Amino acid sequence: MILYDIIVVGAGPAGLTSALYALRANKRVLILEAKAYGGQILNANKVENYPGIESISGFDFATNLYNQVKKLGAEIKFEMVVKIEEDKTVITKNEKYKAKSIILATGVKNRKLNIDREDEFVGKGLSYCATCDGNFYKGKVVAVNGGGNTALEDAIYLSDIASKVYLIHRREEFRGEDRYASVLKNKKNVEFILNCTVASLNGNDKLKSITVLDNLGNSREIVVDGLFIAIGQEPNNGMFSNVVDINDNGYIESDDGVHTKTEGIYVAGDARVKFLRQLTTAVGDGSIAATMAIREMK
Ligand SMILES: Cc1cc2nc3c(=O)[nH]c(=O)nc-3n(C[C@H](O)[C@H](O)[C@H](O)COP(=O)(O)OP(=O)(O)OC[C@H]3O[C@@H](n4cnc5c(N)ncnc54)[C@H](O)[C@@H]3O)c2cc1C
Repeated sequence: MILYDIIVVGAGPAGLTSALYALRANKRVLILEAKAYGGQILNANKVENYPGIESISGFDFATNLYNQVKKLGAEIKFEMVVKIEEDKTVITKNEKYKAKSIILATGVKNRKLNIDREDEFVGKGLSYCATCDGNFYKGKVVAVNGGGNTALEDAIYLSDIASKVYLIHRREEFRGEDRYASVLKNKKNVEFILNCTVASLNGNDKLKSITVLDNLGNSREIVVDGLFIAIGQEPNNGMFSNVVDINDNGYIESDDGVHTKTEGIYVAGDARVKFLRQLTTAVGDGSIAATMAIREMK
């Protein structure tokens, strides 16, 4: 079996950046990716908050990074990792690989509403990330769906950008902290729509309105330019729980941002417990995790 210096799990921005740094340090690197290179950013219509790049599609961002890493000789296999042993054996559905160090960059998936036309409207009025896409709705009308801290923070963030923000929540009370709800109550351009769920998305080539249903089954159409879905994210790290600590929400714990509880196993990007899940922080993590792995390699 080949002994790799570093195996990177996940070919999103964090994983590819880890590989970039490790390959430039002349390390033998294997990247294992369950689906396609690029991770979540592949779904971004436009990225306009990455320093130094005014505007780029998510696909071009991912492809540029992937090509940069491939040019350096990265080995990439499209296999899902299902288990990692403490001795740094990495197990996929069909194979076993061995490394001196492992970087977990498995990211997250945004929880979906699972209603008709949801995928069709992504980037055409529907977003899962206010920090990413809020600026596209300057002076426009938006809705946020959710009742946790993320939804409340998103609504606060958007209320400084959009002309009007509807906050739609399926219950009477928010799950998020009272201090955020209090801020929102005092915002003139925020309207709460409680005990309601989003039942349908309407429009032709872009989102024009949403229909909400209350607990009694009454429907109401709300004209919006954008809908931000903030009902949580789904990290998928349970299979690594023998080598890393995982918090209640499924994110990998790390004292300093990259080290996990197992020597030689690092975490980078959205998969870890962190404050801001963005490209800038994912690539930052990737570069630090790789540099640490190289420095501490035995
Ligand atoms: C629609 C959308 C728009 C966005 N727009 C912006 C934006 O404009 N600006 C911005 O800064 N951020 C944006 N983001 C957020 C940004 O994309 C993420 O913060 C970033 O992609 C995180 O990178 P990551 O590498 O940590 O994780 P991910 O991008 O989630 O990549 C993780 C990768 O790991 C793979 N993987 C997972 N588990 C396994 C396994 N067991 N085995 C093998 N592979 C595995 C996944 O298939 C995936 O390819 C957006 C996100 C979305 C969804």
